[in-house]
Amino acid sequence: MERNTPRLFIVIPCYNEEKVLPLTAPLFLKKIKDLHDAGLITGDSAVLFVNDGSRDSTWEIIKKLSEEDPRYKGISLSRNRGHQNALLAGLMEAKDQCDITISIDCDGQDDINAMDEMVEAYLAGSDIVYGVRSSRETDSFLKRTTAQGFYKVLNALGAETVYNHADYRLVSSRVLREFANFKEVNIYLRGMFPLVGFKSTCVYYRRNVRMAGESHYPLSKMLALAFDGITSLSIKPIRIITALGALISGVTFIFILYALISFFTGHAVAGWASTLVITSFLGGIQLIAIGVIGEYVGKIYLETKARPRYIIAERTDEHNNTGKDA
Ligand code: UDP
Ligand code: MG
Repeated sequence: MERNTPRLFIVIPCYNEEKVLPLTAPLFLKKIKDLHDAGLITGDSAVLFVNDGSRDSTWEIIKKLSEEDPRYKGISLSRNRGHQNALLAGLMEAKDQCDITISIDCDGQDDINAMDEMVEAYLAGSDIVYGVRSSRETDSFLKRTTAQGFYKVLNALGAETVYNHADYRLVSSRVLREFANFKEVNIYLRGMFPLVGFKSTCVYYRRNVRMAGESHYPLSKMLALAFDGITSLSIKPIRIITALGALISGVTFIFILYALISFFTGHAVAGWASTLVITSFLGGIQLIAIGVIGEYVGKIYLETKARPRYIIAERTDEHNNTGKDA
């Protein structure tokens, strides 16, 4: 398939990134220039920052950048909505202004040189190109093992995700227009794009350490993301609980038979220990079951309210206002 030279928007969510933004922003702009020089993208391609309700001077930095060069653009959310929502806001803003988007974090951890290969893959016919980490040696042991365990659990639960792919990916506007019909408020982008379909490929890169500032994903937030990922993509946990309930009921039935036989043959023993074990075990299982079901009920609650996923409060170029809040 022959494709025209695309207009690219690099979409970058930023939350309290005043330390790292001045370092990485020029790198993104340079990438755009280089890609243009190589004839891979058009000259009016841009870098779109999404300020996710930062409490520091991130938005001021973005505004200043956009005054220096029109290829820097920015939107600012009305409050902090989290990485996934911020990224969605940027992608929805970009989709009507460009042909392809590449989403990437602003901390310089993901190798921007993989973008060349991503655009080439697009030109060769792919509509989604996943950036996949070829190694995780720069992550801490804890982050590495928890993250990899998470991908394995997610796939075992039947959610289609690309192993070791985070949110560094190229998505064409065609895909984004279809994606705009996914109205759910519990979003887990890396697991949702495979659901849209279209031709996709992977591009491999090495992940570096953060250039400055600190990670916003401590273990608690990673667990929350993992939980959201699983419950927004799969109902297998509920099935597993049902199966567990059935299994335990079966085992309990055997226990009852045993107790009855013991009673009638006159071997009834004071079953204090076994009673205690069974009741506490069942109590535990029940609490877990209620918790898992509650998680899904909570999700349904949020979905039925269908509140806006983000609200754009400000844009660096207001006249170019084609994106809608969603
Ligand atoms: N981020 C965001 N909103 C948040 C938290 C993070 O937009 O509430 C952005 C952050 O600025 C960065 C990206 O999401 O560009 C990934 O965050 P971070 O680098 O802290 O996560 P890690 O790479 O450690 O997983
Ligand atoms: Mg990071």
